[in-house]
Amino acid sequence: MEKRPFAELGLSPDLLKAVEKMGFEEASPIQTAVIPVALTGRDVVGQSSTGSGKTAAFAIPALERVDPKQRAVQVLVLCPTRELAVQVAEETGKLALFKRGVMGVPIYGGQSYERQFRALAAGVQVVIGTPGRVMDHMERGTLKLDALKILVLDETDRMLDMGFRDDIEHILKAVPTTRQLLFFSATIPRMIQDLIGRYTKDPAWIRIESVAQNAPQVEQRWFEVDRRSKIEALTRLIDVNDFRYGIIFCSTKIMVDDLDEHLHARGYATDRLHGDISQAQRDRVMQKFRERKFEFLVATDVAARGLDVDDLEVVFNFDLPNDAEDYTHRIGRTGRAGRKGRAFTFVSGQELYKLQSMVRWAKLDVHRGKIPSLDEVDEARTNVFFEKIRTTLDAKDFKPHDRMIDRLLDQGYASTDICSALIHLLQAAPGAGGGPAKAAPAKPAPAAKPARPAPAWAKPVAAPEPVPATGETEIDREREDDDGHPAGPPRKSKYERPARTGREPGMATVFLNVGRKQLVTPADIVGKIAGVTRLPATAVGAIDIHQRHTLADVAAEHAGLIVQKLAGIKLKGIALEPSLAGGESKS
Ligand code: ADP
Ligand code: MG
Repeated sequence: MEKRPFAELGLSPDLLKAVEKMGFEEASPIQTAVIPVALTGRDVVGQSSTGSGKTAAFAIPALERVDPKQRAVQVLVLCPTRELAVQVAEETGKLALFKRGVMGVPIYGGQSYERQFRALAAGVQVVIGTPGRVMDHMERGTLKLDALKILVLDETDRMLDMGFRDDIEHILKAVPTTRQLLFFSATIPRMIQDLIGRYTKDPAWIRIESVAQNAPQVEQRWFEVDRRSKIEALTRLIDVNDFRYGIIFCSTKIMVDDLDEHLHARGYATDRLHGDISQAQRDRVMQKFRERKFEFLVATDVAARGLDVDDLEVVFNFDLPNDAEDYTHRIGRTGRAGRKGRAFTFVSGQELYKLQSMVRWAKLDVHRGKIPSLDEVDEARTNVFFEKIRTTLDAKDFKPHDRMIDRLLDQGYASTDICSALIHLLQAAPGAGGGPAKAAPAKPAPAAKPARPAPAWAKPVAAPEPVPATGETEIDREREDDDGHPAGPPRKSKYERPARTGREPGMATVFLNVGRKQLVTPADIVGKIAGVTRLPATAVGAIDIHQRHTLADVAAEHAGLIVQKLAGIKLKGIALEPSLAGGESKS
């Protein structure tokens, strides 16, 4: 896989400057191979994996061939989705920064026609759009393609999957036959071969093998999990493997929001990415993720496309991807650069058949896995703690406390008992899950990872022991509140804190004047407390939500602070009036 400096690819000074400004040090293999060929005007069929730099591979030669003085559309890029059109338009805009007089515009469904009319009328030379909207403008006569020099089909396989075949053919037939055609696709199924055969002239076939494509160094497992137990299963897998850097894919924006909130409430450092999040915000999230400012990115496929991270420990398919292609795209983010990666996929109910057909179709090397039991989670956590102590001892990374130890020894305590007592204290401390520290955001150094606070379900109280593979009963029971009234949304209730079965030692109970009537969920309460106090989510124990009030167990030492900080804060539109509930907390 050859890479070369951009300066050797025959670029103009304007583009070299732009590439340098973008911080690209050298051309990626697909860019090295495509750019010089495309600059000659020859048709190209390019194949390479996600994140390999295909946008610049076609945008650079396309921009080089634009005549700035001619105010007509000379380059048309077709993309499957609005998100991708916007991404490609942005990258192309950056590359065109020093090309004076060259303008471009993304056009896609959902955006007002007014803006698009204006841009098109102003004489843009580069249009990046989704096939449907492009057709629309062609029919209205607002997009004229008779001066078109280059037509790019980006992610062709995906466009065909999305049913754009007719639109694409219509566009291919409508543009001048002299145009240069650049085809990009991760796979070349028959339908695309057919298009290539009919519309290109002697194309250069450029295929960059990616290490990730067949993913031999990715351990792939699938788990049969009931939909409602997915979060439970996810956190167990994270804890047992002590993962600190990964992406969790969900199929919908709502699921992304929901999961992000739940994981956050359980003490994981997460952030989210989906199509409803502004581009500026998405850029910030991606930047933070690359810098490892948080551990897990919860994302939809489209939002995570083009995200160039390649050293993930794990990719979770929280929801089954649509097809084998998406599956391969997703898991290609882990196990790169010779490191071993993991890809864990959850399937529930009928999805098992879908997965099986994907396995057969794409010959996926994925095997069944088992969700760890709570004992296994505990043991793993103990091991992490053990390793942490050992690392600290080996590195001599501690202050000596000889005097205190001598005093205890003098009083006749055995050294093993002293150590056991200390470990007991550390593990009992709020925010300590087998380890004393509150979870710090993951750091690149993998040697001594900080212990993560125990997720609340791992506490000995009423933790849901087995992850049920199926079954409605448990959930149905939870929907009934104490007076037999149907409770709030069932979706949220399952994953949360166990119901309070009485106060644990070291915990105090806080009374809050909101309840089921306001559709409050445990996640809301934990999130609010963690948010205003900056305490770890594990400072909160069991939560009991009643019709008009809530009782929350919190670490006794922080109870005062929590009451003080929550007072007057709004939750679900109600100003909170927290107070310490005295006496026995069971209501
Ligand atoms: P693809 O379309 O193949 O999935 P993209 O074109 O979206 O990949 O590129 C992925 C990321 O890599 C983008 O953030 C892009 O800016 C960046 N990138 C592209 N080419 C280079 C390069 N030569 N050097 C460094 N980064 C690059
Ligand atoms: Mg792309």
